This record gives sequence, C-alpha cells and structure tokens, in this order.
Amino acid sequence: MDNIDNKKNCEYCSRTFVIKSNKGSEQKFCCNKCKNDFHALGRKYMNFLIEQNKIDINTIKKQVLNHI
Ligand SMILES: [Zn+2]
Repeated sequence: MDNIDNKKNCEYCSRTFVIKSNKGSEQKFCCNKCKNDFHALGRKYMNFLIEQNKIDINTIKKQVLNHI
C-alpha cells in the first residue's frame, strides 16, 4: 500500500519520487542532479538579470537576508 505522504513531485523535473528521509530539510528534488541543475539555473538567471541591469546584487542581498 502506498503512503501518499511519502511521495512528492520534483520541483525541477516534476517527476514523482518517494521521499527517502524526513530528517533535516524537506526533500524537494528527486535526485542530486535535479538539485544541482536547479541551483545552477538559479545562478545563471541571477547573473542574466545582473548583466541586463534588471536587478543589482545589493537588491538580491537584501531580499535574501529578509527571507532567512
Ligand atoms: Zn527531478
């Protein structure tokens, strides 16, 4: 019998995966590759915004600090 609480959709590839452990932070990705790709994409996007002068690093710093 499947326990629905142990399953989740990966935030990167949307694949359904079984959460391996409830210890520590909640698992958001089906595998380390998705986790790494997600963060790499985030960094690329941040660099793109900075290069396009859509945002500056001080704004990002402030927003990040306010959310932690
Ligand atoms: Zn995934």
